[in-house]
Amino acid sequence: MSAVVGREQDVVVVGSGPNGLAAAVTLARAGLQVLVLEAEQTVGGGARTLDLGMAAGIRHDICSAVHPMALASPFFTAFDLEARGVELLTPEASYAQPLDAEPAAIAWRDVERTADGLGADAPVWRRVFSMLSAQHEAIIDVALSDKRSVPSALLSPAALPALAAFGAMSGLQGTPAWGVPLRTERARALLTGVAAHAIGALPSLAPSATGMLLAALAHAGGWPIPRGGSQAITDALAADLRAHGGRIITGYRVRSAADVPPARAVLADLPADTAAELLAERIPSPLHRSLRSLGHGHAAAKADFVVNAPIPWRDAEVRRAGTAHLGGTRRQMADAEAQVMAGRIPEAPVVLVSDPAGVDPSREVDGLRPVWAYAHVPFNDPTDPTDLITAQIERFAPGFRDTIVAARGIPAARMHEHNASLVGGDIALGALSAWRMMARPTAAWDPFRLGASGWYLCSSATPPAPGVHGMSGWHAARRVLQQVFGVRHLPSLAG
Ligand SMILES: Cc1cc2nc3c(=O)[nH]c(=O)nc-3n(C[C@H](O)[C@H](O)[C@H](O)COP(=O)(O)OP(=O)(O)OC[C@H]3O[C@@H](n4cnc5c(N)ncnc54)[C@H](O)[C@@H]3O)c2cc1C
Repeated sequence: MSAVVGREQDVVVVGSGPNGLAAAVTLARAGLQVLVLEAEQTVGGGARTLDLGMAAGIRHDICSAVHPMALASPFFTAFDLEARGVELLTPEASYAQPLDAEPAAIAWRDVERTADGLGADAPVWRRVFSMLSAQHEAIIDVALSDKRSVPSALLSPAALPALAAFGAMSGLQGTPAWGVPLRTERARALLTGVAAHAIGALPSLAPSATGMLLAALAHAGGWPIPRGGSQAITDALAADLRAHGGRIITGYRVRSAADVPPARAVLADLPADTAAELLAERIPSPLHRSLRSLGHGHAAAKADFVVNAPIPWRDAEVRRAGTAHLGGTRRQMADAEAQVMAGRIPEAPVVLVSDPAGVDPSREVDGLRPVWAYAHVPFNDPTDPTDLITAQIERFAPGFRDTIVAARGIPAARMHEHNASLVGGDIALGALSAWRMMARPTAAWDPFRLGASGWYLCSSATPPAPGVHGMSGWHAARRVLQQVFGVRHLPSLAG
């Protein structure tokens, strides 16, 4: 153990992703001495923005880029990112679904404007998403809960119709009956593109619920991009932690439990199987097996580009969206995801792409700008995704290839090199299914406890699910305060 780690702490957090930092901030604000140990040289985990040396002054979001979850999250609402100088820039269109043979389908923030572009499906889209966006706080209350306590929204009569509609639509869209109630290819493709965020079989329940949640948020606060990149979010957390006496040591990789200094509580912002290995000699074998059983889900392979012009979308309206989902029709996306499930790289994979300078001019330097993209691929796949992603963008934006000044691809099998938690490119830290959204990482009544005295899991391998929302860290911190320190109330995160 390094000498810099120093004295005994109240709390050690291993990993400085959004969940690790959310837990650390909460515990430091409760008056505890908190030390964060981070393997990489910079803080932030899945919310880091780095100069990759591809072009002077251009900074890339190496993992997350677009933040509907951070905007809607109860943790970040209490923490108040804007009051800390984090500017969340919200494009007028949340996401777009370019199509080969017709204009793109676009989810504008405005429900009416979106419905107007969806032909025969306009009435359904208008009815469903007006209701869900109006009640998005209730939906978030349920979706981002710890899945063990009763969310207050479930006790609110005003919220029940929207929650029932959310459940019914998620159910329908997650089963072979997904042709109902949307009838047009445009609307079906638009909703499928957002469901595909969960990287799973289409149709199935985890993608459909994810898609309905993100689609509802698209028409509520929107899908913002922080000025300067995702790092702004985790820098704000790190600054608050330090202001409350917390310390962060970077470049400190925890390889065994012995690398963790003495502390009354340890929170692991790590995959469940990594945490199980750290504690292999301290926890019973059935729990060790159970933690490992979460396994790993399907993967993402990342590409970062530097380009000398905005993406030349065939349908220029796509430029107004912060995110584009590339994959074509619902059937084409379902086929591509089926290939991934079968362990094969699709010829035309589902690709997510964002051109952040479209909403944040500060990202453009000397006429150059970053483009963020990733493709869905099989777990641990070794293929460099750059050509596949370039071809998929070129399909809907002819001429994109000619704007590329530099490109860098990271195969799924190498995603762990910049964040050890991304084993095999599994960006969800474990399989995502309806069952695994509840039983993350196990079905235990307290899924945050790791079974060794004082050890807790606080990463997105715990409820509620992946995303930059800080809620896993907040839920874990609440338990640590109660169970280890006997503190019943969460501290204020404001100011
Ligand atoms: C390519 C990609 C795109 C994404 N896009 C989005 C998006 O646009 N919006 C969104 O909301 N979410 C997105 N996500 C998901 C989001 O980034 C994660 O869900 C979120 O970061 C999870 O936070 P976390 O704190 O649980 O884990 P992480 O953010 O992964 O943090 C874990 C931290 O632990 C550190 N660590 C790992 N092992 C050790 C060790 N042994 N010792 C010390 N430190 C260690 C890592 O270096 C890392 O800093 C994306 C993820 C990826 C990979």
